[in-house]
Amino acid sequence: MEFEILAKCPTTKARVARMKLPHGETMLPTFMPVATQAAIKGLTAQQVESLGITLMLNNTYHLNLRPGIKVLDKAGGAHKFQGWTKNLLTDSGGFQLVSLSKFTTITEEGALFESPFTGEPTMLTPEESISIQHSIGADIIMQLDDVVSSLTVGPRVGEAMERSVRWLDRCIAQHRRAGKEGTQNLFAIVQGGLDPILRDRCLEEMIKRKEGVAGYAIGGLSGGEEKDVFWRVIKQCADKLPEERPRYSMGIGFAEDLLVCVALGVDMADCVFPTRTARFGVALTFNGPLNLKLQKHNKDLGPIDENCPCPTCTSGTSRAMLHHIVTLETAAAHALTQHNIVFQAQLMGRARDAIMAGNFPDYLRTFFKTYFGKAGYPEWCVNALRSVGVDLLENVEAQVVPGDGAKWEYSDAS
Ligand SMILES: [Zn+2]
Repeated sequence: MEFEILAKCPTTKARVARMKLPHGETMLPTFMPVATQAAIKGLTAQQVESLGITLMLNNTYHLNLRPGIKVLDKAGGAHKFQGWTKNLLTDSGGFQLVSLSKFTTITEEGALFESPFTGEPTMLTPEESISIQHSIGADIIMQLDDVVSSLTVGPRVGEAMERSVRWLDRCIAQHRRAGKEGTQNLFAIVQGGLDPILRDRCLEEMIKRKEGVAGYAIGGLSGGEEKDVFWRVIKQCADKLPEERPRYSMGIGFAEDLLVCVALGVDMADCVFPTRTARFGVALTFNGPLNLKLQKHNKDLGPIDENCPCPTCTSGTSRAMLHHIVTLETAAAHALTQHNIVFQAQLMGRARDAIMAGNFPDYLRTFFKTYFGKAGYPEWCVNALRSVGVDLLENVEAQVVPGDGAKWEYSDAS
């Protein structure tokens, strides 16, 4: 991997970087759409590529179960299997293992779980997770970590963090043994729950292992913790992680979360939210989410967003048409998924442009005004951005919503 920082925001911790991977360049900060089963639901690989996406995510757990490693090896890896020529990132399988398997026991050797298909007890070790990811052939691969929910408290959080460090060593060793350091890039995952002392300890240990690590992810968040705690953990990690390595916040997809994370120094994020909410009929826009199932759209012949360059908006597909077919015809899922992927790409692309131009704080203020102007600014965003020198409320008469912020639940804010 080549990682080059092109610009830094003089106010916040945001930065623009060029990340060169085996399947091309990806400009950071970026949002990565999730293609769980080697396909973004509703879109072909060519469609995703035509939207300008250069990095997406595949799930190791799912691909290992089906089609399985034998098929992927025969195909020559996941890129060829799915007809995707750009960059791929795979998770380690740990998260799904804990969230989807009925029965998982973590031992020092690895995670013992019941196969959802055969019921057979199966062991996923750090070495095996890396080997599976070698067969998949993703440009960025993740260490196997010991995952606990962000709501877990007590000694289990520290234990999982310490084990994640030990498992990182085993992942680095396996990656070296296989001689894949030149072609695939291993990322570590910082754990430690919501405890700043545990996070510090994890950061210290994982930074010591920098030579074996191409980048760092911040894991163990987005599990229902308070947003005011969430951003403090992100800030603590981003502040301490090495400048010359990309930083990836896992499981983050709401527009405001993305921009706050970018301001705190995060380069990459992924989430199923934008594509999933599309299938439920919600279009993301710079004026807030738009629920096309609502009756009020049934006579509106305008596009979702007249300034949006996506195929749905530029083809003249109207809100009324989408309302007519949404959640009923698969064409609506295609149309809204394309729009939402382009929205996320634009959100991050405009952030990059603003950082390059030296006016990222203005971009943040404009975004929050148009997106939250009517719904109220989430207080945690105001707090988080103040911590990096941006006052969203400067010269703005805005309502501030305490706690986690606007409760529109993507029903309809427009
Ligand atoms: Zn659009």
